[in-house]
Amino acid sequence: MKASANHPDYISTKITCSCGTIYDTFSTKGDFAVEVCSACHPYYTGKQKIVDAAGRVDRFNKKYKRDTAAE
Ligand SMILES: [Zn+2]
Repeated sequence: MKASANHPDYISTKITCSCGTIYDTFSTKGDFAVEVCSACHPYYTGKQKIVDAAGRVDRFNKKYKRDTAAE
């Protein structure tokens, strides 16, 4: 029987997260990396983590004189 183009190779895959967690699974894509996973995403950890590299939250707090320490 001829190999069909409708059935891509389903291969063993390692998905690496930026938090260090590695998932062994299967995909048609091969190894790849992700930025968040269920082990580190705030939705699952219950911890709030704001990605604020540009300091926009600080600027907002300063502009409206919000004191974050008081909360
Ligand atoms: Zn993760």
